[in-house]
This record gives sequence, structure tokens and C-alpha cells, in this order.
Amino acid sequence: MEYITGATASGGSWIPTFVVRSNINDCGCCGKCFKICGRSVFEYIDHPDSDDLCGAKVMTVKHPENCIGCGACARGCPKKNIVCEPKVRVG
Ligand code: SF4
Ligand code: SF4
Repeated sequence: MEYITGATASGGSWIPTFVVRSNINDCGCCGKCFKICGRSVFEYIDHPDSDDLCGAKVMTVKHPENCIGCGACARGCPKKNIVCEPKVRVG
């Protein structure tokens, strides 16, 4: 099994951790991950129980295909709510 690797500026290699999911029930809706991510991966949505929660919104992983695996969103989430993992190289 071989993980997808990235390259550093000096040509070294590292293993990116790509966003897998966020748990909407634990999201504090602070918007930090949205601001941190430069790849337009996240999007605010209405909480599924929005009507009972005064119109609450939560962050969701909308475009995981745009993720470059920097892991910054997971490190920055104050609720430890975002999961990032290495990806196995296919083919
Ligand atoms: S790992 Fe990096 S690129 Fe991927 S969603 Fe998080 S902040 Fe964006
Ligand atoms: S940083 Fe964490 S708590 Fe804040 S909006 Fe993103 S997932 Fe929710």
C-alpha cells in the first residue's frame, strides 16, 4: 500500500492528509475552516434540524475533490471536528 505524496520546495516528499468529513452535529459554525481553506472545499448549509435550532447553519465538506491535503482545516478547527487522512495511491 502506497500513499499519495506531495513535494516540498526543496524537493523533499511528504504525505498529505486529505479532508474526509466533518461532523455537522459537533460543528460550532465558527467559519474558521472556511477561511483557512484556499481550495473552496467547505460550504455552509442549513442544519438538518434547522427549524428546531432557530435556523442554525453548519459547515459541510462540499468539494473534497478540490482538497490538496494540507490538513490546515483539521488543525484549525476548535471543535476537533474535521477528519483528514492520507489517501492510498490508486494505479
Ligand atoms: S486539508 Fe487543506 S485543502 Fe483540504 S480542505 Fe482542509 S484546508 Fe482545504
Ligand atoms: S472550524 Fe470546525 S467548528 Fe468551525 S465551522 Fe469549521 S467544522 Fe465547524
